[in-house]
Amino acid sequence: MKDTGLFSLPDSFRGDYLVEYINSTVFYLIFAGITFYIFYVAGKKTFARFKIQERLTKKKNVIREIKYSLLSLAVFSSIAIIIYHLLQHGYTKMYTDFSEYGTAYFAFTCVAMIFINDAFFYWAHRFIHWKKIYKHVHKVHHLSTDPTPWAALSFHPFEAMVLSVFQLSIVFIFPIHYWATLVVALFTMLYNFMGHLGYEMFPDRFATNKFTKWSNTATHHNMHHKLFHWNFGLYFNFWDRLMGTQHPEYEKEFAKVRLKAKALKPDIIATHKTKMPEQQTLKQKLKKQLEPKLNLTDILPDGKVLKEGDKNELILDIEKRNS
Ligand SMILES: [Zn+2]
Ligand SMILES: [Zn+2]
Repeated sequence: MKDTGLFSLPDSFRGDYLVEYINSTVFYLIFAGITFYIFYVAGKKTFARFKIQERLTKKKNVIREIKYSLLSLAVFSSIAIIIYHLLQHGYTKMYTDFSEYGTAYFAFTCVAMIFINDAFFYWAHRFIHWKKIYKHVHKVHHLSTDPTPWAALSFHPFEAMVLSVFQLSIVFIFPIHYWATLVVALFTMLYNFMGHLGYEMFPDRFATNKFTKWSNTATHHNMHHKLFHWNFGLYFNFWDRLMGTQHPEYEKEFAKVRLKAKALKPDIIATHKTKMPEQQTLKQKLKKQLEPKLNLTDILPDGKVLKEGDKNELILDIEKRNS
């Protein structure tokens, strides 16, 4: 096996378990920590209108999410070391000489691995939702009914092992450059942090646009944590759509979350407070101000609109936030 220049194995990946564990833990702590600090600490007020669920994050939930994530990282590091040794002994189809297959093949393997992992995750996720396994394993992840970025890796160790089957088997299927596995790992982490963010930052039409609707959103995975039996996908929702497990109200829920973010824009709230007659109740004020904004035909272009009950629910929700 030939190690070449820039694309050789990084020094950090030399089969040392402790180094591998520390590196991945530092990455997790920095990434989740910065995201958490921006949305839940420093920008708590600024981003409040984008929050998907109303509830406040409890400290004990965050501690549990970190604790289980650190355990998962211990499992993932073991898998990395196993792959390292398999690679060193020439048992895998992994390669380290970038020129051997070229750039186009490298890009192809990254995309192929993303789609294969998406299918693998969907079915693995359905498997760990099987009652007999769920209560002993996947329940740990679902203790976060309103997850934070710390929950991105908050799995029972057995679940971490199940999820590692992809990494452990793909290296035997077709030639993969070591850096391609890193690209996919990074892509997975980004989706994981986004899915557990608890805030919806994607634009209004994202869940219905014919190109972007296939990607999952923070709302999509947040609904999985809140409602359990829907929205199992990792990066995309092809499998959820195909297998009928995408929540029928997903697009509407996404639209409601985005509308709430718009309705709670500081300038709109300021208008209520200054221009509306004092004798009106806050509910009436909000209704008058928000009613024109509650026509969702521009958000759900396929003709689905919010029902009157949904509008009232949204108004009550906003009223609660501002009382
Ligand atoms: Zn689940
Ligand atoms: Zn989750």
